[in-house]
Amino acid sequence: MVSKKRLMATLATSVALAGAGYVTVNQVVPQVSIQQTVKASAINDYIAANNIKPVSIQNEEGTFSQWFGYANGVGKPIGIVIHETATPGASARNEVTYFNREWQNAQTYVHAFVDANEIINIHNTDYGVWGAGHTANNNYVQVELCEVNTTDEFARSVSNDAYYVASKLIQYNLPFTPGVTVVSHDDISKMYGETNHNDPVGYFANWGYSMSQFDELVGQYYNNLKNSGSVDGDGSSTNGGGDDTNNNTGNSDVVGVTQVNNPNGSYVPIYMFNEDTGLPEKQTVRALANNTPWAVAETKTFDGHVYYRVSVKEWVMDTYSQYSAF
Ligand SMILES: [Zn+2]
Repeated sequence: MVSKKRLMATLATSVALAGAGYVTVNQVVPQVSIQQTVKASAINDYIAANNIKPVSIQNEEGTFSQWFGYANGVGKPIGIVIHETATPGASARNEVTYFNREWQNAQTYVHAFVDANEIINIHNTDYGVWGAGHTANNNYVQVELCEVNTTDEFARSVSNDAYYVASKLIQYNLPFTPGVTVVSHDDISKMYGETNHNDPVGYFANWGYSMSQFDELVGQYYNNLKNSGSVDGDGSSTNGGGDDTNNNTGNSDVVGVTQVNNPNGSYVPIYMFNEDTGLPEKQTVRALANNTPWAVAETKTFDGHVYYRVSVKEWVMDTYSQYSAF
């Protein structure tokens, strides 16, 4: 966030099905004993399982009239700062309107705003902005992630945010180095001590997400864009694979939803099918929270049980499922 003082809503990490045909998933809940070692991201899994692609970057000229180059020169940022607006209900377009109108009063401006549907760049990233204190402003591209209300929207918004970051790293011939070329406002506060904001850490945490998980996504997009020009790594597109006809079509790969519960335990086991034997194997590292709804991408029957696929390779058994096909 920049300098606006607005109340930050506490979002539940446990989200029921949202409206408008979207399906939301819940966080994977690890067993308590190994909680600290679990790094995998249900959000990144959801992005992959649902084939979510970033949208294209829209470039438009904002009203910020303070043109200054970076410390190393015009067109020479050293990295990108990740912010989060802390403004529930405000879309990227809402924020663009607000900051174009109010930056002189608020004394803040950033390069871009990102939400689930749009990436809007409003100031040439060859020049600095006012988002995170003197040193950061003179060295980094700065992007604000907008708050959203469903897991599906959050997944889409971080996909868009990661794409923007990866694209800017490549545009300025910067390496992908988490904590150096990709930094949170929280990192900036600790590095330079000129601001005390810690976004987007708290907002990410509301969705069970972290900067390191976000970095995983940025790294994936960065490598694929570098190698093939596409976030998929298949060379199919030069704009991140997103186009306006695909961005808002929802979850075309989702076939239904399952409400999971294990009346005899505190969590619902996940199964993965062994690639050699084909046998389902109960996972010991991750599980699903009881009484949570999950988007299902595929169903299959094995040994008298139906299994529902809830992420790239993770399945839940009919014993614990109440499944509804779309
Ligand atoms: Zn910030």
